Amino acid sequence: MRSKLSPVHIPDDVSVWDFMKGKLQQHSERNRVAFIDGPTGRRYSYRELLTSIRNVSSALLQRGFQKGDILCVISANCCQYPMAMYGVLCIGGILTTCNPESTVDDIRYQLEDCEVRWIVTSSENIAKVRDAVQHIHAIKEIFVIDGTADCSSFSTLTSQMSADVIIDCPLVDPRNDVAWIFYSSGTTGIPKGVMRTHYNLIADVCQMSHPSIAISRSPGEEVYISVLPFYHIYGSWLFLLQCMANGDTVVVYPRYNAVRFIESVQTYKVTILMVVPPIAVDILLLAEAGDRTAFASVHTIISGAAPLSTDLERQLKRNTRVVRVQQTYGMTESGPICYPEWDDDNSNGSVGIVACNTEYKVVNPQTGEELSAYQDGELLLRGPSVMKGYFNVSSEDDLDIDHWLHTGDMVHYDDHGRVYVIDRYKQLIKYKGIQVSPTYLENVLLTHPAIADAGVIGLPDLRAGELPAALVVLKAGVTATEAEIKGFVDEKVAPYNRLRGGVTFIKKVPRSPSGKILRRKLRDEAVRKLNIT
Ligand code: AMP
Repeated sequence: MRSKLSPVHIPDDVSVWDFMKGKLQQHSERNRVAFIDGPTGRRYSYRELLTSIRNVSSALLQRGFQKGDILCVISANCCQYPMAMYGVLCIGGILTTCNPESTVDDIRYQLEDCEVRWIVTSSENIAKVRDAVQHIHAIKEIFVIDGTADCSSFSTLTSQMSADVIIDCPLVDPRNDVAWIFYSSGTTGIPKGVMRTHYNLIADVCQMSHPSIAISRSPGEEVYISVLPFYHIYGSWLFLLQCMANGDTVVVYPRYNAVRFIESVQTYKVTILMVVPPIAVDILLLAEAGDRTAFASVHTIISGAAPLSTDLERQLKRNTRVVRVQQTYGMTESGPICYPEWDDDNSNGSVGIVACNTEYKVVNPQTGEELSAYQDGELLLRGPSVMKGYFNVSSEDDLDIDHWLHTGDMVHYDDHGRVYVIDRYKQLIKYKGIQVSPTYLENVLLTHPAIADAGVIGLPDLRAGELPAALVVLKAGVTATEAEIKGFVDEKVAPYNRLRGGVTFIKKVPRSPSGKILRRKLRDEAVRKLNIT
């Protein structure tokens, strides 16, 4: 089926930088502010942003940066992030991003996996990054944003030349050349690099600017606050692409803090809140406590990245005075792909309609048979924003031969074409909107000397969405306590991967004859053992 929205023109003959450059120039002529650094109040105009991008590109070229080189940003949100991203895209490079909370091993894995050559990080993370790169010879240089004496400072990149110097941008093949490699575990396994091309990113912007679904009521006048991390597709697409294409202003904080968030919404008269469900809960608590004026400037609240219950969505609508409260849906592999219509008052619980220029179908995952409206099945997507594939992964279960992306999500759609996410078929846990890979945690558990087998599932949680929980089989004659195993894992993994859902001992992990964990059975076993309703 085709999206019910009228198609839009998506240029496929320019690089994403050429596509964005003209827009940034227009906003610069209007003297718009692109970013405000929340902690200091420092404002960066579109003009300054353009100058910094050109300086970064030129400085990297002088240091030997080549087309196709990959630069990894390992940092909390900061105003230098877009400078690094566009600086690299402008010269045909590729951006990869890494959650700054990652462990040394996680960072090393990603740097090696996608063959990173350049790194931008912050002083907060430099020790971990140094450890991670110890034996990686491909790394050419590390730049530290808030510079330390013994490292190249990112400011040497942003302040090198005058904006008038013409940079020799290499020719880009927009449909084939990769612009972003973000990490996702897809429907199975450990995280892998999702390759999205220049054309994919241009499609994100064009599709999400469709008048029926566009987020902005007044593009170029909206104010956002960056409570979503730039290392994740939701934050990077929204704040680094879409807001910049529109000429909006983004208030940037390194990380989310509920009290500061509310203060900043009022100080900066934020107009649109794009959030994940745990932040939606905070907003509701505040509104319920009676402080509705806190959101007086806000006309839209949109939640994405994980399910928001219909109940919560309704309560948000009732308790805030915000006109538009809706949900969106997307994937690292597809970009933002479902979005609610502006004037749809009946979208309760739906994640919106499928983006324009995109085909979709809902199929029975066992038989592949296409299903009709209101029937639950797996969502398949095909269109200009769907990834090129995974980096260095040859067998791609998630992308079939006809380029249909198998989302691993159980959904149905209604007569109007609205999509409702019901559950997940895939092996993915979402803790506060962040991906947690069960396979990754199972691999860590299996390194414990007392563990014979293990399976990991997500337990429902009101605030976090899901909590990773382990079901563990101990080796014969060996004992271990829950606290011991939890401690063992928590020490080895990044904070968001911790086994907050606990450890339960079982006799056998249910597996198929081929050895695959039967996750539904595992979940049923956990529900029974833990008395969860
Ligand atoms: P990521 O690649 O980290 O953005 O994760 C994508 C996955 O997050 C999707 O395949 C869904 O399982 C889940 N997801 C994203 N948005 C929603 C939503 N609004 N409701 C339910 N699940 C969502």
